[in-house]
Amino acid sequence: MTGRWAPSPTGEFHLGNLRTGLLAWLFARSTGSEFLWRFEDLDAAVRREFYAAQLDDFSRLGLDWDGGPILQRDRLDIYRDALQDLKDKGLTYNCWCTRKEIRESVSAPHNGLPDGAYNGRCRWLSAKEISEYERSARSPATRIITNGEHLQFEDRQVGLFEGAIDDFVLARGDGTPSYNLTSVVDDAAMGVTEVVRGDDLLSTTPRQLFLCEQLKLKAPTYAHVPLVLNSAGKRLAKRDGAVTLSQRISMGESVVEVLNYLLSSLSLDSVSTVMELELVAKVFNPTKLPRHAWILDI
Ligand code: GLU
Repeated sequence: MTGRWAPSPTGEFHLGNLRTGLLAWLFARSTGSEFLWRFEDLDAAVRREFYAAQLDDFSRLGLDWDGGPILQRDRLDIYRDALQDLKDKGLTYNCWCTRKEIRESVSAPHNGLPDGAYNGRCRWLSAKEISEYERSARSPATRIITNGEHLQFEDRQVGLFEGAIDDFVLARGDGTPSYNLTSVVDDAAMGVTEVVRGDDLLSTTPRQLFLCEQLKLKAPTYAHVPLVLNSAGKRLAKRDGAVTLSQRISMGESVVEVLNYLLSSLSLDSVSTVMELELVAKVFNPTKLPRHAWILDI
């Protein structure tokens, strides 16, 4: 079995990221699985210093990984091939919609698709409209063709989940491959068998499973874990206060205290050194994890 951790180096980790990372590590190490690290670094907001900062936080907390990290920016050829494969199978179309057009299209309910789904506007353009767009300066995004499919899967934490699939983006107008494409391609290429991540990504998982089918890739199992929320019930963010490991340390907490804070939020035993995490992994039982978000009032 192989697990993974796939952060975007766009900032320092906060307690929510660290808690999800700790869980991904525990899921993997409790079954003696490999644990791989991939940086999802195709985002424009990526900054050089955060690669090291994120790796350093993990190391300080005693969370190790095997090999890597793998960087997505080194793998553009691989995503291009996957995209070409989908194009060759006739499974894609060009989309010239502006952000505004997409916003307008998604706010109108259509065909029973979930909120935020694209309505397929560019799929139904006439030949004349397409040739006009092709002569314009705008470069099109590439979308997958779907037909109102719904996909069900058994999530290890959430249980049975069903979601509709829209014509989601595979590559942006500037050619950058999308998160859904790169994530699926990389998980398969890295031999990942178990994905553990925040439940904010639950609703996009049917899209990823659909893509696995189209690319004939073996899908991993999924465990979506509850996020950390602030006192207003919103996803924890840097502006909520002292939420990063370095901020907690500068307030006088030790690394072990921060780790124990995370462990107690998961109803797991505390440790006296980070090395003892191995013992926590030995008795880790995912079925006993809290099912609800951790509300953190900084
Ligand atoms: N890079 C994504 C994030 O930082 C995680 C994606 C995933 O785990 O599939 O939110």
